[in-house]
Amino acid sequence: MFQLSPETQIALKTLNRAGFEAYLVGGCVRDYLLGTSPTDIDITTNAKPEEVKAVFCDYLTIDTGIRHGTVTVSINHQAFEITTYRVDVGYSDGRHPDKVCFTASLYEDAARRDFTVNAMAYHPDTGVIDYFHGRDDLAAGVIRCVGDPVRRFGEDALRMLRALRFAATLGFSIDEPTAAALRQQKHLLSQVSAERVTAELFKLLVGKNAGQVLRQHLPVLAAYLPELGQLDPDMTGALLRRLPQTLHLRLAGLLIRLPFEKAQAVFERLRLDNKTKKNTLSLLTLYHKRYSIDRHSLKYQLWNFGVSTVLDYYTLMAEARAIADDSLGANDARRATAQVRDIIASNECYSKETLALRGADLAEFGLVGAQINEWLTHLVYEVLDGRLENTREALLNYIRKKNKQ
Ligand code: ATP
Ligand code: MG
Repeated sequence: MFQLSPETQIALKTLNRAGFEAYLVGGCVRDYLLGTSPTDIDITTNAKPEEVKAVFCDYLTIDTGIRHGTVTVSINHQAFEITTYRVDVGYSDGRHPDKVCFTASLYEDAARRDFTVNAMAYHPDTGVIDYFHGRDDLAAGVIRCVGDPVRRFGEDALRMLRALRFAATLGFSIDEPTAAALRQQKHLLSQVSAERVTAELFKLLVGKNAGQVLRQHLPVLAAYLPELGQLDPDMTGALLRRLPQTLHLRLAGLLIRLPFEKAQAVFERLRLDNKTKKNTLSLLTLYHKRYSIDRHSLKYQLWNFGVSTVLDYYTLMAEARAIADDSLGANDARRATAQVRDIIASNECYSKETLALRGADLAEFGLVGAQINEWLTHLVYEVLDGRLENTREALLNYIRKKNKQ
């Protein structure tokens, strides 16, 4: 089950040979036990950060979060986050510990972690060290806080979104006392930074069980994004369950039933990268504009939004209509998808790339740079509106004629 890479073995052995304890910990132990390969390996040790750096002096080390005890060590290009056993003290702001204290106890380090399934440690000599019965919860598919959930969510409100995130990605349910604490403490989420919320929300949304989690726990998200409070959890959950696990589709699915301005207000509060923002806004724009789905209009949509967005949009529309029991609307969306595929397959023009002419052809008329671009755009409109045939001959004749004028 625990197929440690040679680099992971070097990391553990290097610390052990210098007299320190060292264990894999957290997500990687959970993932190994689930039989999935972990994305990254975290190591916990009783070595202090300066000692970690000294022990790994032959390797590249980075002071990732040295005040919190974390040093990143690169071994043959594999990065390990090595963190000193610690306890987090205080949390008077509901976000960060007031103070981080190093400790000699692996137990205390495990006790500060969020969920039982994330609080296990592993070393090849000891096997899994599981103070909080994480393995039982893993087998039962349960997310349960380590310790008293009301207190743990009060210390760091982000943990509430992490609970939803792990339930969504692992397909787990949330243990009832932990779920009750979510309901009780959700108002504290407003204290958390947009960066941290966005990171967890995105992982949640693309999780295989995002739909189920939102159906049950949408009010938790609404505590951070009040606009979501007006959504029907059943409908929202059902829609997300049917959508592919793609971020912009799921995000658009979450916001699709809000008025456009409210969806935009949500955007303002999240930290979206430009690509996700553009893709999601395009989907919402298409949805709210309700363009007709005749061939001419579809080609305009392809021209304005691009192939992948238009196909995504009709996927979204088909599912949104289907869960609203609008089978006619769902059929329209499927017919639109079929037409779009047909437009593409029959080499019809809906972009500069699908014009039967290249920029180089225009250069032969003595046109340059921006002029070429303007011409190509003009030609696309002429073809889209049926004033011009999309053949090389027809396009060249048109330019010759216009050039003479
Ligand atoms: P992933 O596979 O997404 O990386 P992960 O479990 O490794 O999941 P991380 O965010 O990388 O999650 O955190 C690593 C570990 O640190 C967690 O498994 C958990 O033990 C602990 N942890 C992370 N965030 C918190 C938190 N807010 N409160 C308590 N413990 C946390
Ligand atoms: Mg991790």
